Amino acid sequence: MVASAKRINSYEESTSSLTEMTDDLNAELKASSPTNSDFLPSNDVWYYDGGILLVAENTAFRVHGAVIAEQCEVFRDMFSVPQSPTADAAQAETRDGCRVLRLQDSAADLKHFLKSIYDISYFLPGVTTKFPIVASVLRLSTKYNAPVLRQRAINLIATAYPSSCAAWDARSTKRLVPPFEDEHFAYIELAIKTDVRVILPSVYYALTRLPLAKALGGLRSLAVSPADQWDVCTNFLVGRELTTQAELMHVVKFLKTDFSRPGCKDSRHCGNMLHVAAFHTLNHVADTVPYHHQWCGGKLEEGVTTIGLCASCNLTVKDTINSGREKVWEVLPASFGLGDWETLKAVDGVDVQEIGPQ
Ligand SMILES: [Zn+2]
Repeated sequence: MVASAKRINSYEESTSSLTEMTDDLNAELKASSPTNSDFLPSNDVWYYDGGILLVAENTAFRVHGAVIAEQCEVFRDMFSVPQSPTADAAQAETRDGCRVLRLQDSAADLKHFLKSIYDISYFLPGVTTKFPIVASVLRLSTKYNAPVLRQRAINLIATAYPSSCAAWDARSTKRLVPPFEDEHFAYIELAIKTDVRVILPSVYYALTRLPLAKALGGLRSLAVSPADQWDVCTNFLVGRELTTQAELMHVVKFLKTDFSRPGCKDSRHCGNMLHVAAFHTLNHVADTVPYHHQWCGGKLEEGVTTIGLCASCNLTVKDTINSGREKVWEVLPASFGLGDWETLKAVDGVDVQEIGPQ
């Protein structure tokens, strides 16, 4: 199931029918022609009393139909239909008394997915899990309609790309999927292919902190359809501009000459310092790393102290920046064409209790 990254118009747009998925899987099975001994048993998932061989690439996983049907609606649906003697050759393929189902997934994806089904400790909620495992489980739980595992995967990736400013600032210590190089692009690709939108605003936000050429270079390499790629690039570029505007309006508004600084100990001095800061901001607003980002990225102490204000103005400016960043985050989804946080969280079922405050 490949989802589109188009702007959200309604809840219904993000749903797909079980019938569709079952039909897709049956078509996939029929398209694969059986041959002899073209697969090897998996070292990771092989139960001798299992009656089903799931074959991905050249690896066979021997499993119990009832166990995977319990988790996956698509398999449940398929196994509920008894095989008839006249079933076509692809569906009738057996090996050592096991029914053979050839899937067009990667062996790695299937391994992680099946281990998550069989081994309760392999894919636990609230436990640090590496991206390849989470991504595999999310892909196949989406494809085979395994809602519990899909939700668990979404909750995990939502700790890496959370939906609030406070959670973003704490993400380096709170995230349950460890970081890796160029991860933003891998998450976008995963989100599009599995139709998970709740992480996209903060992924796009992270991209706005990169030089534009680097961000666009990564987006150009996404393994998604040209239509999805166009939507992603458009949403990102429009959102980047809107985010900059929102930051200048809400976060950096203390640089305006009419900004009120009640309790200032030295109005002339602080006015001059803010004038210098405004001058620097204006000169560097279009840099690869804009000057004003020092106040928008959660490192307030460092950024504000460099201005050289009195203690009272320091406090005023910090409060302004804090509340301004909250406002920027509130409108992040809308800026990137993704609606609002509440809808995104409702559609993707992000479990706030499980992953902590967002
Ligand atoms: Zn002052």
